[in-house]
Amino acid sequence: MSRPALAEIRLDALRHNYRVAKASHGGRALAVIKANAYGHGAVQCACALAAEADGFAVAAIEEALHLRQAGITAPILLLEGFFEAAELPEIAAQNLWIVIHQPWQLDALLAAKLSRPLHVWLKLDSGMHRAGFAPDDYLLAWARLKSHANVAEVVLMSHFARADEPGSAHLRQQIDCFRELTAGIHAPVSLSNSAAILGWPAAHGDWARPGIMLYGADPFAGALPQAAALRPVMRLESAVISVRSIARGQPVGYGGVFVAPRDTRVAVVACGYADGYPRAAPSGTPVAVDGQPARLIGRVSMDMLTVDLTDLPQAGLGSRVELWGERVPVGTVASAAGTIAYELLCNVKRVRFDYSDATH
Ligand SMILES: *Cc1c(COP(=O)(O)O)cnc(C)c1O
Repeated sequence: MSRPALAEIRLDALRHNYRVAKASHGGRALAVIKANAYGHGAVQCACALAAEADGFAVAAIEEALHLRQAGITAPILLLEGFFEAAELPEIAAQNLWIVIHQPWQLDALLAAKLSRPLHVWLKLDSGMHRAGFAPDDYLLAWARLKSHANVAEVVLMSHFARADEPGSAHLRQQIDCFRELTAGIHAPVSLSNSAAILGWPAAHGDWARPGIMLYGADPFAGALPQAAALRPVMRLESAVISVRSIARGQPVGYGGVFVAPRDTRVAVVACGYADGYPRAAPSGTPVAVDGQPARLIGRVSMDMLTVDLTDLPQAGLGSRVELWGERVPVGTVASAAGTIAYELLCNVKRVRFDYSDATH
């Protein structure tokens, strides 16, 4: 016997979503699988995409080495480059690609003795003001890289602050900033994360960087029809482990924050915030019990949460409960909890992971 909490991962849906990303954007696409593939398992996701992905992107060398050890030979881009110059020999040995986003990295790269020239993605701060070279410094950085023996190809990149806001004037300004500054440079371009791939054709270039859309979450929360082609990759589910009936007026769970407005059948489900289900999800957050819509009631606890079964008399002990997946979009749970799908997916832990792949 074991605890029924489970994350089912559909690798065929992941591949489908990668194809959607590539078809929407054109050109080539790095599958972004940082943070353990947004909580889905980086090695499993990379292996499922290995035959068709043009490359992968991760946050740091540790994540990339994990993939190389698992036999992934495709290009892997380090999205923040190196954190200290001492990483450079291993980056060269493992044939990793690097983002250069600040002056000390540029100096360190050009000063290093390397076994081979590196692929560099030179990042412009076009208005997000988080990482990247300021526009005034960008062309000089490019000129220094362009003809240096330590550098193979240079890709020009930038990242958007507000790509998930349809019609954002700020995003338009970022595109204009990038295009004006780089108009005279002949080099491949990469601007688009998932939201820009789906919603901003003007931001398309030679390389896309899809992340969240690979996992089937809609960056626009339903505002754009293009995202309807995506399929959820993760289904977080568990089961009802006990049922009781309480009278109208009785409280449920910690703090008594939910008080039954009618006589209520309360189901206890084996999933809580220690599994990654958000404690901030309020009463009323949707779940699906044996495929039927139902609602969370009371406060989410560490190992359990409670659901109202009053309107589902046929459901009971052992009923399967989808916390998110095909029937309950992860983005819906996220917005009920005041966060985004990215955070929920990254936080899934302790549950059993079960991988399936319809076409392999
Ligand atoms: C994480 C990341 C992405 C992927 O973003 P999504 O919104 O998940 O598609 C793309 N580019 C950079 C630089 C990133 O850090």
